[in-house]
Amino acid sequence: MDKRVDDEISPSLRGIGMTSQRTRNRLVSRLRAQGIKNMVVLDVMRRVPRHIFVDEALASRAYEETALPIGHKQTISQPFVVARMTECLVHESRLTSVLEVGTGSGYQTAILAKLADQVFSVERIAALLDRARERLRILKLTNVRTRYADGRAGWAEYAPYDGILVAAAPVGVPPALLGQLAIGGRLVIPVGRGPRQRLSVITRLATCYEEELVDYVRFVPMVGGMG
Ligand code: SAH
Repeated sequence: MDKRVDDEISPSLRGIGMTSQRTRNRLVSRLRAQGIKNMVVLDVMRRVPRHIFVDEALASRAYEETALPIGHKQTISQPFVVARMTECLVHESRLTSVLEVGTGSGYQTAILAKLADQVFSVERIAALLDRARERLRILKLTNVRTRYADGRAGWAEYAPYDGILVAAAPVGVPPALLGQLAIGGRLVIPVGRGPRQRLSVITRLATCYEEELVDYVRFVPMVGGMG
């Protein structure tokens, strides 16, 4: 297990009161009660300080089971959804290389960075990406590369990925993402318009793709072009 972040984070990053380690422990107990079983994922959620990924005014609400605004009409996903998607992606083995589409606050990116050797993350809103980069730098997560681009095209340069996690919902699965999956790799993606989207896990097999419906979720829409 990679201990880089938590052993080195300063007391201010650890938080106090509603942002303290005790609050993160309570979050993890709740996630377990909600059905998250992967101990590695739970451990990482216990260690990554979620409150630094939202505005200071919202820090005391960072560990509530809710999505919170991060500006530019976008939201940081609720903890359960982050845990569920991460659990789907990680499955049983450690990941070598992961692509994330929709960096947003950078929280999911930080979780992935502790579970994969290398994380590549793409975001189409420059201001969000700048802030996310700063937070990842503060947490000393040096195994993350980010890019300001339209993530529907994936990130061909570093493909294939053994995991791809998408944090915004397209109407249909972008073909480029399927193409950038390694054999045996898994794409975790919300698909559809409106308030109820299908959360799918698509696995690339040698000659075909296999799709499994995991849950129904509510994500911001995937938007084309750059913001
Ligand atoms: N995982 C993030 C969730 C952010 S919300 C977090 O925990 O904070 C989804 C993000 O996807 C938004 O920041 C939005 O700007 C981004 N997004 C939407 N369409 C995109 C696209 N085509 N390419 C890249 N990012 C996109």
